[in-house]
Parts: sequence; structure tokens; C-alpha cells
Amino acid sequence: MSLFRLSRKKSPWVFHVGTGSCNNCDIEIIAALTPRFDVERFGIVLQGSPRHADILLVTGILNRQTLERAKRVYAQTPDPKLVVAVGTCACTGGIFRESYNFAGPLDRVIPVDVYIAGCPPRPQAIIDGIVKALEKL
Ligand code: SF4
Repeated sequence: MSLFRLSRKKSPWVFHVGTGSCNNCDIEIIAALTPRFDVERFGIVLQGSPRHADILLVTGILNRQTLERAKRVYAQTPDPKLVVAVGTCACTGGIFRESYNFAGPLDRVIPVDVYIAGCPPRPQAIIDGIVKALEKL
């Protein structure tokens, strides 16, 4: 394994993409990143730009406003990148599936590597999803 690849695996940088959630999934991601669950001890670091990220953590449904933005963020993330769908909305559309502006499940727009079910998923499940995603690197 190259040093470049090993360093990505040992310290993945994540970027949070909120595509229109009710904010509970976002709050659980924040809980995972802050001192109670403290994912930085595993080398997982939140980044402010997708250009510096290895993993995109996507929450919420894709709607007409966020569809193009999600595609753009995905394109801005350098390869090899991983996408983790956090929460039932990101996985399937959840309770918003029949909504008038639902623009389709996330995996029809960008490839998804790991799905984390739950409404919202617990921080432990989010950490587990990131670890599963790393196995694909
Ligand atoms: S999965 Fe549940 S908690 Fe997460 S954004 Fe959807 S409705 Fe909100």
C-alpha cells in the first residue's frame, strides 16, 4: 500500500454535505465530531472544503435546490473519494419521499459507498459507517 493511500486510510478527512435534512442527522454528525465521541482520536477530521476531503457525509433528501449543488460538491472532491449516506433520508428519501420537490434518491445522482440507516442514526453508527467506507479505500 502506498504511503499516500495509507495516510488517507489512517486519517480520513470528511466533509459534511447537507442536502435538505431536518437537521437531526446533522446534529448527530456534530455529536460524532465533538469531544463526547471524539472521532479525531481515530484520525477522522472535519474539513471546510470538499477539495480537501476523502469522504463526503451526506444528510437529507436531494431536492430541486440541492441536486446540482450535491453534484458539484461531488465533482470538487478529489479521487479516490467515498460517499456515506447518513440517515434514512439520504439512503431512500425517508419520510420526504413523496414530497413535491424530492429529486430522487442520492444514489441515482452520485455513487454511494455506505448507507447508514436510522432517523437519525446514532453517532456510533456514523463512526461505524466511516470505518466501513475506509475498508473500500
Ligand atoms: S433521516 Fe430522519 S433525522 Fe435524518 S434528516 Fe431524515 S427525517 Fe431528519
